[in-house]
Amino acid sequence: MAGRFAPSPTSDLHVGNLRTALLAWVFARRSGLGFLVRIEDLDQQRVAAAPEVAARQLQDLAAIGLDWRPPVTRQSQRLEHYRQAIASLETYECFCTRREIAEAAQAPNGATLPQGAYPGTCADLTEDERARRRRDRPGALRVRAGGVSMSVQDRFAGTVTGVVDDFVVARGDGTPAYNLAVVVDDGLQSVSQVVRGDDLLSSSPRQAWLAQQLGFAVPEYVHVGLAVNPARERLAKRDGVVSLADLAAAGHDARQVRGWLLASLGIDPELDNDELLALPERSWTSATRAWVVDPDRW
Ligand code: GLU
Repeated sequence: MAGRFAPSPTSDLHVGNLRTALLAWVFARRSGLGFLVRIEDLDQQRVAAAPEVAARQLQDLAAIGLDWRPPVTRQSQRLEHYRQAIASLETYECFCTRREIAEAAQAPNGATLPQGAYPGTCADLTEDERARRRRDRPGALRVRAGGVSMSVQDRFAGTVTGVVDDFVVARGDGTPAYNLAVVVDDGLQSVSQVVRGDDLLSSSPRQAWLAQQLGFAVPEYVHVGLAVNPARERLAKRDGVVSLADLAAAGHDARQVRGWLLASLGIDPELDNDELLALPERSWTSATRAWVVDPDRW
């Protein structure tokens, strides 16, 4: 059983990612679990520089005092696992564009779906229609979930219920989708605790449903607050000095940054790892709060 941190190597980790990683490490260790790191590098277009970025991400995690159980896994080396999982699901090809999906707000049975949910447009195409539409563009694969309701338990948010639409499990170019890969990996790696940013809270009912379909235990979810810029938008590289490398160039070392991460959680910035793990559970409740970061004022 394990917890994990699963960065996408699209750019260096920023202080918000590092804070989530620190919390994932703390919660895993507090629960007596192993801690894994998984590089989510399936999006080959966005992760062109992946090897160097991933190596820097690992260095940065170590620099703020985290350790993990080897090996570090890379999704790009696990394609066969995803292929097998997809083959075991009931799926159908979908040729809809994003725009078509946005415009079709109703499910075929007349029910109004939550915003962004797939209305099932391609669910019942005939073989002839599929063959015709494949000539225009390759189809993505969607799993047939049919809009069931699914509830998960989050340590902080409590019971979270969502509608599971027919979501994409493989893109038109054959790349396994994030929701599929994350569930397969968490399942095969016996991940029993998922700590991550609360932007993914609404994805957890889908992922829990998929875990059940694939015969995996549903993990405990622990969604934590994101770092945001002064405009309260999710912190990003374009906000300026936000990665350890940027901060080092501005004269702040990793130890100091670790102290800021702890202070943002209301925790004494001087505590070492053993002291962190000895804190009572209630010390961590502010993990759910967003952290407002102003990179111009470090
Ligand atoms: N790779 C995802 C991200 O960087 C994390 C997914 C997850 O933790 O489930 O946002």
